[in-house]
Amino acid sequence: MNILFATTEAAPFCKTGGLGDVCGALPIELAKLGVKPTLIMPGFRHALESGVKIEPTGVMFEIPIGRKKVRGEYLRSTLPGSDVPVYLIEQHSYFNRNELYRERDTDYQDNCERFVFFNRAVLDAVERLELDTDLIHCHDWPTGLLPAYLKTIYADRPGYNQIATLFTIHNLAYQGSFWHWDMELTGVGWEYFNWQQLEFYGQLNFMKSALVFADALSTVSPRYAEEIKSPPMSCGLEGVLRHRQHDLFGVLNGCDYAVWNPAIDPHLAQNFDAANYAAGKAACKAALQAEMGLPVRPEVPMLAAIGRLAEQKGFDLIADVLARMAQQQDAQWVLLGSGDKKYQDALAGIAREYPERVALRLGFDNALAHRIEAGADMFLMPSRYEPCGLNQMYSLKYGTVPIVRETGGLADTITNLSEKTLSDGSANGFSFADDSPYALSMAIDRALRAYGQPEVWRQLVTTGMNQDWSWSRSAKRYVEIYEHTLARVEAGVGV
Ligand code: ADP
Repeated sequence: MNILFATTEAAPFCKTGGLGDVCGALPIELAKLGVKPTLIMPGFRHALESGVKIEPTGVMFEIPIGRKKVRGEYLRSTLPGSDVPVYLIEQHSYFNRNELYRERDTDYQDNCERFVFFNRAVLDAVERLELDTDLIHCHDWPTGLLPAYLKTIYADRPGYNQIATLFTIHNLAYQGSFWHWDMELTGVGWEYFNWQQLEFYGQLNFMKSALVFADALSTVSPRYAEEIKSPPMSCGLEGVLRHRQHDLFGVLNGCDYAVWNPAIDPHLAQNFDAANYAAGKAACKAALQAEMGLPVRPEVPMLAAIGRLAEQKGFDLIADVLARMAQQQDAQWVLLGSGDKKYQDALAGIAREYPERVALRLGFDNALAHRIEAGADMFLMPSRYEPCGLNQMYSLKYGTVPIVRETGGLADTITNLSEKTLSDGSANGFSFADDSPYALSMAIDRALRAYGQPEVWRQLVTTGMNQDWSWSRSAKRYVEIYEHTLARVEAGVGV
């Protein structure tokens, strides 16, 4: 089975969030199951400067974008640690930029054009690079036009009509919505600009287009697959998602234990594992306290958060709780994030006020993210919604007890501590339902009380560390979905 992964992110080439982790790890797991995956992604500056060896293929191409023609070139590499081929689409003016999608809180104005180009360059690569392709696995809105292209302007081209598509929703809230005149850039006829196909509230919508035209849909946790069928998580797309509900699968992301594993993590002051974590974790905590400029005190509980500073992630709830707790509670807080300025300012203000207790790093720092996972005692994820979430799975493996809002993949992976879950051995963290500072602070209080009971805490830590959230189970599920989708397309059933 030949699967072409079309994605804008894949670690270690480039990553802004979980999508990069998924596309860097899942193809390698699939290859172990006998699938033949190939990746294709934009040649973003980050990818070209990632240090991974990339070579030219010598194959150039030209894509019609509205009335102009835009040239590009295919480059070739492999996913490190594997022989999974990776093709990068080089187009200097679209992809050689400081960021992937947006800068200074504003999307790049030509995002529609950039990703129309990317979508068409992926399809042209099938022919020009002679990529045997049974199914294109598309990821998130930047690949959202691919299924529509296959069913419209590529439908009659030899070699394309049997290619199936699976579209995975990593985050429904980011939809790639553009003014209607951008239809001219796509090359797709205006007859498709209607409420049942590419149009959504008067705009061209990449996400909706994928939900309508892909042969199968998936998202990254079973709970999120349910949540997105109704408002508010459906972000307005409940109609099409309910219509397609029998083609929509929820598959939990996995954790890449070759990268996120305290026993072998090269970023840590000391490695450790579930059988013997106390000394290693203590060393990592002391090193983190020193690195972050906090007093080196082994006994004080340390809470951490890492993530995009966006409304989704609930950093405003953290700021609210922190402003009050930092004064009263003898605890340390370590925060790492990049994103919206209003959250940066709110958190920076608190960090300035309580330098002995709150340490903030603004920016994207992968090595520090590893050290925080290892050194902290508790990990906060008060997300308003969370399609899957990876940091809670990393936290479990690093013996850092998650405190999460009960939503999406967080609900699917974290079992709240209660008398019952403590006695049956399933408790691995703390969860709460309301998206309010009060609910978050109550959950933190419960966690701090449990931290004061060494036996309870040890059970929570070791339960999490011993759990297996690796890719192997999810990769098998993807193989089933590919097979199911291919069989349906072959039989002529579907959209
Ligand atoms: P999302 O994809 O919604 O951003 P996930 O929890 O699925 O959230 O994945 C986030 C990934 O990005 C994790 O690997 C996390 O460690 C990483 N990450 C997020 N923000 C930062 C940051 N500022 N510095 C380093 N890593 C980060």
